[in-house]
Amino acid sequence: MKCDVCKSKDAVILQPHTGRRLCKDCFIDDIQNRVKKEAEKEGLTKANKILLAVSGGKDSLTLADTLASFIDPKKLISFNIVEGIGGYNRSDQAKKLKKYLDDLGIELISTSFKKEVGFTLDDMVRSSHDKGLNISACTFCGGFRRKLINAAGREVKADLVATGHNLDDEAQTIVINLLRGDIKRLIRLGEIPVKLSDKFVLRVKPLRKIYEWETTMYAYYKGFEFQEVECPYISMKPTLRAKVRDLLYSLESKKPGSLLTIVEEFDKISEEYKRNSELKDLPKCKICGEPTSYGRDVCKNCELLIKSGLLNHQYLPMS
Ligand code: SF4
Ligand code: ZN
Ligand code: ZN
Repeated sequence: MKCDVCKSKDAVILQPHTGRRLCKDCFIDDIQNRVKKEAEKEGLTKANKILLAVSGGKDSLTLADTLASFIDPKKLISFNIVEGIGGYNRSDQAKKLKKYLDDLGIELISTSFKKEVGFTLDDMVRSSHDKGLNISACTFCGGFRRKLINAAGREVKADLVATGHNLDDEAQTIVINLLRGDIKRLIRLGEIPVKLSDKFVLRVKPLRKIYEWETTMYAYYKGFEFQEVECPYISMKPTLRAKVRDLLYSLESKKPGSLLTIVEEFDKISEEYKRNSELKDLPKCKICGEPTSYGRDVCKNCELLIKSGLLNHQYLPMS
C-alpha cells in the first residue's frame, strides 16, 4: 500500500488519529511539522536561548532532534541531571546522549542531585524509609528535577525551558489535576506559558501534541539508541497516574484522537481563563528562596528533606 501523502513510497505506519497510512519520510516530516507548529505558539521560534531538559530517553532525543530541524542549534543548550539511581544512571548511556547532541551541534551541560542537593535520589529514598515515611521516589525526583532545571535556565539566561513531555503525559496531567480539583495548577498547563514568579523561566512542551507511540517510532526511525533500562522505582510511580493512563488508553483505542481532543479543548478553556483572571505571583520558599505553591512558606522539596531528616531547619513543614 502506498503512502497517503506522497503517493509514491510504501506506507509503513498507520496513524489512527488521522486514519492515514504514511511512509517513513512523510511520518518524520509530519512529526517535525507538528512540533514546529506547537513551538511557534509557545514562542520558541522567536527565543534567543532555549534550555532543553534531556534525560537520554526517546522523548528527550526526539525533542532535541525535532527542534534542531527548524531552530539554529546554537540557540539550544541541553541540560541533563544524574539522579543517582543505582543501576539506572549508566555512563555508557551518558556518552551516547553526548554524542547525539554533539552531532546535532547542541551544547550539553550535566549535573547531578548529589552535586546540587547534596544527596543522590537513592539517599533521599533510603532516609525517608528509615524515618518510616512512605514518600515515593518519583515525588523526590520530579520536584528536585523541576527545581534544578529552572535554576539552570536562569543560570544560562534562557528565554524558555523546553521539556520532552508528550501528548500522553499532558492528557494524563490534565485529567489528574481535574480529579484533584487543582484549578490553579491546571490553568498553568495551557500551551501559552504564564510567568508566576520572577524566579521562573517559562516552561514549554513542544511535544505535547505528539503521541507517545509517535515519539517512540520517530526515535526508532532516526536510529536513536535510547535509554531502555527501566528505572527501578517505576513501580513506585503514583497509582493515580497509572489508573488515569489505563483509562485514557482504553478511550483512545475505542475513539482514536481522544487524547488530542482533551489537550486541544483544554487549551481553549485555559486561554479563556487566563484572559479573564489575574494570576498572582507565587510566594518564595523561606528556606531556599525558590518559588513555591500558593499558601506555602516552605517549598515541597525543602519540606521533603526536613521530613526525611536530611535538612535541619527552624521552619516546620506546613502539613
Ligand atoms: Fe524519577 Fe520516578 Fe521516573 Fe524513576 S520512575 S526516573 S524515580 S520520576
Ligand atoms: Zn510518503
Ligand atoms: Zn525550598
